[in-house]
Amino acid sequence: MNKFWSPFVDSLEPYVPGEQPREGEFIKLNSNESPFSAAPAVIEAIKAAADGALQLYPEAESSELRGVVADYYGIKPEQVFVGNGSDEALGHAFNALFKHDSKKLVYPDLSYSFYPVYAGLYGIEVETIPVTEDFRINIDDYCALDSTEISSIIFPNPNAPTSVALTLDEIERLLKAQPDILVAIDEAYVDFGADTAIKLIQDYPNLLVFQTLSKSRSLAGLRVGFAFGQAELIQALVCVKNSFNSYPIDRLAQAGAIAAFKAEDYFQETRQKIIQSREKLTNDLTALGFEVLPSAANFVFATHPEHQAEDIALALRQRKILVRHFKIARCTPYLRITIGLEEECEALVKALKDYLSA
Ligand SMILES: *Cc1c(COP(=O)(O)O)cnc(C)c1O
Repeated sequence: MNKFWSPFVDSLEPYVPGEQPREGEFIKLNSNESPFSAAPAVIEAIKAAADGALQLYPEAESSELRGVVADYYGIKPEQVFVGNGSDEALGHAFNALFKHDSKKLVYPDLSYSFYPVYAGLYGIEVETIPVTEDFRINIDDYCALDSTEISSIIFPNPNAPTSVALTLDEIERLLKAQPDILVAIDEAYVDFGADTAIKLIQDYPNLLVFQTLSKSRSLAGLRVGFAFGQAELIQALVCVKNSFNSYPIDRLAQAGAIAAFKAEDYFQETRQKIIQSREKLTNDLTALGFEVLPSAANFVFATHPEHQAEDIALALRQRKILVRHFKIARCTPYLRITIGLEEECEALVKALKDYLSA
């Protein structure tokens, strides 16, 4: 630690993102990005927005975008918060909503590895609940929590890195059972096979939902994400945002995001292709002896009973294919593999055959 550092910086444990190698060097199946480029209409909209107005600040509240997204989901603009990626929206929620003296935040032992990072940054006390033997979130565990001790719950649906989804009925059961606990559902992967909880926000003042354009809308590079909830929850996020950076979404991102919600055909087509590739890859991996969890996401979580996941990841790397291996308890036998283009998945299967038969 340098003497000029604020002391708390030394105690932080920052998030480590998936490796981003030079373009074209590797087949990238390690960061759950879309293998498809953004919709052509999005690129056009960004080019048009770059033309002439970049000397001006963007519109601070992303009003037009919030209107478009609210229409898309049949909710009101004041129920939509826009952030610089959903990571930023999540960060504001940790600060503005999950931080309560003497009450804890709860999430599964296996879930998005940014949650503990934000909890550390904002000094939030956390309790984790183990996922079941078969890597499911058991909603009864959360229904049984004591609201005098717990302020909030967060988990991804589908969960990451396990890829397993809960039904909307299970989520609604939790919302009903815990009216005094804020329930946050991180839907980064919802478009690949789960049901969004956005339709429940009218009925549940304790529900907050996060989504992102990074995965299913092929826009990880644009950095746009959302939080959805009743207006009073969103106001807390806006309040923190405007105390931190009042212009999180730049002009190009606003224009691109608006266009993304209008490019419905492209969205449906690319989303369906990924779902199809996932089913094929799951079959191919199973045929090679892998156990693959039932995925509702754009990645699979797979283990091979006879081979160390770390060794497989290394062997794939030597064959110019990147997958993700988490060296954390319970995850070590598993690889998280992002669904790529059909030919990328084929290259992966070929490389695995090669390695497993050697
Ligand atoms: C990818 C991801 C996010 C963050 O996405 P952004 O790119 O910041 O929008 C949030 N939650 C989960 C579970 C993710 O996998």
